[in-house]
Amino acid sequence: MEVGDRTSSSRHRAASAQQGPGPAAAASTSIGSCKQVQLPKEDVPTKLVAKAVPLPMTVRGHWFLSPRTEYTVAVQTASKQVDGDYMVSEWSEIIEFCTADYSKVHLTQLLEKAEVISGRMLKFSVFYRNQHKEYFDYVREQYGNALQPSVKDNSGSHGSPISGKLEGIFFSCNTEFNTGKPPQDSPYGRYRFEIAAEKLFNPNTNLYFGDFYCMYTAYHYVILVIAPAGSPGDEFCKQRLPQLNLRDNKFLTCTEEGGVMVYHHAQDVILEVIYTDPVDLSLGTVAEITGHQLMSLSTADAKKDPSCKTCNISVGR
Ligand SMILES: [Zn+2]
Repeated sequence: MEVGDRTSSSRHRAASAQQGPGPAAAASTSIGSCKQVQLPKEDVPTKLVAKAVPLPMTVRGHWFLSPRTEYTVAVQTASKQVDGDYMVSEWSEIIEFCTADYSKVHLTQLLEKAEVISGRMLKFSVFYRNQHKEYFDYVREQYGNALQPSVKDNSGSHGSPISGKLEGIFFSCNTEFNTGKPPQDSPYGRYRFEIAAEKLFNPNTNLYFGDFYCMYTAYHYVILVIAPAGSPGDEFCKQRLPQLNLRDNKFLTCTEEGGVMVYHHAQDVILEVIYTDPVDLSLGTVAEITGHQLMSLSTADAKKDPSCKTCNISVGR
């Protein structure tokens, strides 16, 4: 039998996920010789469909596979003999493969779901990043005063092409609706680096949609990526993420009004903005916040709620 993508022109001979002589295999009347070729590590579709092929054996079935997941597959076949007994083959050798990350098509579906709950916008003027004092001391001493991009953790959607791969610096831009300013509390540390919005986000940068998820609470998160045009981060995102119009999108906009740049962010989701280049601390200010350091469990590698209908797409269905 064959397993392959419906749309794929290259047919991979492989084993099915049949667990021994199940109903499908038992319905066959003679044995099919299973010839195996290792599936390539790349170009494996996220949905494998077992086809009925003109071997003596017919198997019908399909498997919905998750993105960015390692699978091992082995096959065992059974065939009915004239005396009514089944002849069962040995298990085939095991085939291992890993499914791909979300494609741009999947991310565009996710983007459309995020747009549904991102209606209202608020004005803002600064991006900020809270950390402990030691973090900023370290940046000054070890990196010549420049915040350094680091690899994004595995929080968010399983299958996100930026998890564990994209390098950047997380910033917030959320403001309080009553003051128009960043909140004075933070769970990330008592020191805050603040930088004018136009230093990180302007017509010379590109904006990408990165992810949309929640973590078993009422809050939904949208990850956006800002990359200076032509930078390595920009090249990475261009190939993998849907690009957003700077002036016209539901999450983060930059428009010009009377020669002045005006910035808006979505009010009904929590934005996490990743900037892909180093950022010199001298471009902004570091100061202690006057509010509380909120107690919070770490969200590093936090898992997305897979049952939430608001922020999940069903791949391959
Ligand atoms: Zn959700």
